[in-house]
Amino acid sequence: MSLRFSALNNINQGNQVNVPGPAKITALFGENVFTLQKARAFLSDEAYKSLLASIKGGRKIDRTVANQIAAGLRQWAETKGVTHYTHWFQPLTGTTAEKHDSFFTLKGDGTAIEEFDGAALIQQEPDASSFPSGGIRATFEARGYTAWDPSSPAFIMEIGEGKTLCIPTIFVSYTGETLDYKAPLLKSLEALNKHAVDVANYFDKNVNRVAATLGWEQEYFVIDEAMFNSRPDLVLSGRTVFGHAPAKGQQLEDHYFGSIPERVYAFMRDFENESYKLGIPLRTRHNEVAPAQFECAPIFEEVSVAVDHNTLLMDVMDRVARRHKLRVLLHEKPFAGINGSGKHNNWSMSTDTGVNLLAPGKTPKTNLMFLTFFVNTIKAVYEYSDVLRACIAGAGNDHRLGANEAPPAIISVFVGGYLSNVLAEIKERVSDKFDEQDEAILKLDLHRSIPELLLDNTDRNRTSPFAFTGNKFEFRAVGSSANCANAMTTLNTIMAETLKQFKKDVDALIEKGEKKEIAIMHVIREYIVDSDKVLFEGDGYSEEWAKEAEKRGLPNLKTTPLALDAMVTEKSKHLFESNDVLTHVELEARHEIELEKYIKRVQIEARIMGELCTSHVLPASVKYQNILIQNIRGLKDIGLDESTYCNQKQILKKISEHINILSDLVEKMIEARKVCNAMENTRTKAIAYESQVKAPFFDAIRYRVDKLELLVDDTHWPLPKYREMLFLR
Ligand code: ADP
Ligand code: MG
Repeated sequence: MSLRFSALNNINQGNQVNVPGPAKITALFGENVFTLQKARAFLSDEAYKSLLASIKGGRKIDRTVANQIAAGLRQWAETKGVTHYTHWFQPLTGTTAEKHDSFFTLKGDGTAIEEFDGAALIQQEPDASSFPSGGIRATFEARGYTAWDPSSPAFIMEIGEGKTLCIPTIFVSYTGETLDYKAPLLKSLEALNKHAVDVANYFDKNVNRVAATLGWEQEYFVIDEAMFNSRPDLVLSGRTVFGHAPAKGQQLEDHYFGSIPERVYAFMRDFENESYKLGIPLRTRHNEVAPAQFECAPIFEEVSVAVDHNTLLMDVMDRVARRHKLRVLLHEKPFAGINGSGKHNNWSMSTDTGVNLLAPGKTPKTNLMFLTFFVNTIKAVYEYSDVLRACIAGAGNDHRLGANEAPPAIISVFVGGYLSNVLAEIKERVSDKFDEQDEAILKLDLHRSIPELLLDNTDRNRTSPFAFTGNKFEFRAVGSSANCANAMTTLNTIMAETLKQFKKDVDALIEKGEKKEIAIMHVIREYIVDSDKVLFEGDGYSEEWAKEAEKRGLPNLKTTPLALDAMVTEKSKHLFESNDVLTHVELEARHEIELEKYIKRVQIEARIMGELCTSHVLPASVKYQNILIQNIRGLKDIGLDESTYCNQKQILKKISEHINILSDLVEKMIEARKVCNAMENTRTKAIAYESQVKAPFFDAIRYRVDKLELLVDDTHWPLPKYREMLFLR
């Protein structure tokens, strides 16, 4: 029996796992997290205060205190039956990494004890040689180490009966280059904090700290495990490289916000419960547009914790799905012809005085503060739209961005009707002769025209890659499988840089004798004029927009290898280096890693395509071709005239043509791959993989296979069909 039919016999449709819900979420929430409350209970006063200071102000923890904290952590973990610990980190592979060690050790005299000291808490040396480093380690130092990040709380990961204490860490080489997503993220938050506080102080001297906030929305597909296992393309590349569109796709739009299928609902409640234990504040769950597509979203948190929580969630979802004999697909485009998955990154900044800097203010003065941060964000996106495009580039996302769905590859900003008018008003009224009285009146007028609750007033333009949605910007071009850290690091850094320049510009006017608020208005106006081009309120998917954007000079890079160039321009190096986020060496290394990831992904897809054709699709098609031949021959042999088998001949002709062209294309693709593989330069090779392998062959091969799927007898077709994967669960 073919894999497909054994899968169809084995699907677990209707058999859901029983998931008892908690009486109250609050009873579960944070159960497996070393929260401050638990730290208070398990640590000495001194250790607790030191931990707190380190979380709040990034202060260093000395060795004796670290010993105390480690002992407290172990005690807490042991009350929960934990025997092992690990440094948990986010290497540039895009997944999470851990290496477990037990608390158990032997003393010199052979006595067995349980131990976890400050040294083990602070630093660990994973065998790092197999993590991507983009040549950094080859050039500098062969080893790297993980270092404790006290700003993110330790937690216990439960896998079945196994429980492990996870210490969030950053991953660095011995020469100091960062090798993960987390370290530059933390640095970007520092840069943003510094420059945002400076600017916020124009309006409020009490602001001492500004933190960026993130609320992600995770889209994903869920399919039956048996279906998944019998699609080698899904198993190896995360997406289906073939598959004819089902008779019913998403055209009825009956899935979105529809009732959640029972089995998926049980899975959702299960992973939500696991997430609550880990302190991930999930709030929303619903169906998405495509069949078998869903979304979940938490309450927003400070960026570094939110990033950890998203990476953890992706891991938890995968583990829990298996319990339900389901599989979660986080790929940006697992199925052609229906919507792909993104991860909207809702981003804002909030002060230690409790103000959301992107929320319209209650008074004219706080509204001017809002406008300042609002306009600076637009300017940042305009100036660095290429860098922003680069940070979300990847083989998976290329199937979304600019591929006639989801946000286009052109980075533009949507602000809505109200705020467009406000910007126009400022542009018009702030003139050279703008005086104190004009300023006071304008400020009042603006205050009147910005509704305090913008949330209900921003019309929701779903086609914009970067949209203002009332009290935050929503970066929608991030891919569903991405680590949010990359997008957040970039956004924080371009914002830090823009605010730094803003302060310089305002201070320069003040030095010339301008009043502070007038100076601010002038610079805001200048920034609005400068970055006008990036604002777009229309349909981002339309062809007119692509043309209009080209006229405006906005970049529209549809493929990853080219989009990544923006990482290593002089402008980008200056941006990241001067803000102390990434050195040019680190940028070069990361650029190399991203290119390599791209090459490998396209290479794997090309290989799996070839293999599926030669050992699944072509044999099945040839078998059916033979049946037709036999049939025709038989009819002819018994003396019937041609009219009795002309239909069969027609089908046979079509099938034979597809078979011939398909095997020819597969041969040529293999040749093209060989040419690319011989290339030395990573960038050239990545570009070639796109233009010589993917572009000319992927769609052409798929077209033939999908035609054959329709022509070949269903009982011979070896791969689960779209309708089976998408609708049976
Ligand atoms: P949708 O975009 O699907 O309509 P919402 O607008 O309700 O959803 O919110 C989406 C996400 O925005 C949620 O995860 C929420 O936590 C987040 N969010 C709300 N306010 C902020 C903020 N100030 N900073 C960051 N994220 C926020
Ligand atoms: Mg959204």
